[in-house]
Amino acid sequence: MAATIIDGKAFAATVREKVAGHVARLEADHGITPGLAVVLVGEDPASQVYVRSKGKMTREVGMKSVEHKLPATVEQQALLELIDRLNNDPEIHGILVQLPLPDHLDEQRVVNSVSPAKDVDGFHISNVGLLGTGQKSMVPCTPLGCLMMLREQHGDLSGMNAVVIGRSNIVGKPMAQLLLGDSCTVTIAHSRTRDLPDVVRRADIVVAAVGRPEMVPGDWIKEGATVIDVGINRIEVGEKTKLVGDVDFESASQRAGAITPVPGGVGPMTIACLLANTVTACCRANGLDEPE
Ligand code: NDP
Repeated sequence: MAATIIDGKAFAATVREKVAGHVARLEADHGITPGLAVVLVGEDPASQVYVRSKGKMTREVGMKSVEHKLPATVEQQALLELIDRLNNDPEIHGILVQLPLPDHLDEQRVVNSVSPAKDVDGFHISNVGLLGTGQKSMVPCTPLGCLMMLREQHGDLSGMNAVVIGRSNIVGKPMAQLLLGDSCTVTIAHSRTRDLPDVVRRADIVVAAVGRPEMVPGDWIKEGATVIDVGINRIEVGEKTKLVGDVDFESASQRAGAITPVPGGVGPMTIACLLANTVTACCRANGLDEPE
């Protein structure tokens, strides 16, 4: 039977609507406008596209959007000084430094220079530690979006076997922590995993975050499993290019119970969660109840 297609685009629109409602109430009841600052270093075309659409959606939900574009050659000290100014700016509640950064910059140092309270990406070491110990933190947007779709699909995830393919700090590891927090039995697979097909075949939930086009074929998927495809890969088809995920959608959707498409699955949810995190950061900064 063909899988249910999880419509991340539609779900993200409902999340953004809720965010817009919170923003309107913050404005009406407290005269506060949540503000998000995005810092882009260099001219990577994909990053420019992401930053543009983040800015547009931030404004659409009624928040203040600030973009700082720095040349690829910027010195680390200048970048750190900008982040310091944003950390101390009361009108800015969320700061996002678009990754990857050019090689001459110390990415970890830059990420850790963002105030943890404004770290809406959830990459600061304090937030990583809080998430890992089950405490209130800023949760990375992509895994948070994946978790929301899984909860929407299943309600309670407890006891389910989940396999996360990929162990990056920004997707794989926090995804695994979130699934563990929801009481899944979690396996993290990576490039050294032995017999990956067998590992994946045991999973009720598969989250693929690898960055290899259509690497997971349908016959690895357990009948009825839920598949969340984080991958965004541009491939050439004849003279054109198209986006595909890390999962072979065609064959996997014949076996899965539910599956996210690429595009239109995880991607839109990531931006919606970024906006939701900014509202949360704003509420915390002002000692107000935060949205659920
Ligand atoms: P990374 O390159 O940081 O990590 C990839 C992971 O995949 C690594 O842990 C690597 O293992 C593992 N891997 C590589 N090859 C294999 C293999 N053959 N078998 C099993 N595991 C393998 O990528 P990211 O986590 O940053 O991103 C993953 C994908 O998600 C990319 O396509 C990216 O574009 C996309 N993405 C999408 C987002 C969205 O909003 N939808 C947001 C962020 C990312 P090892 O550690 O052993 O090298």
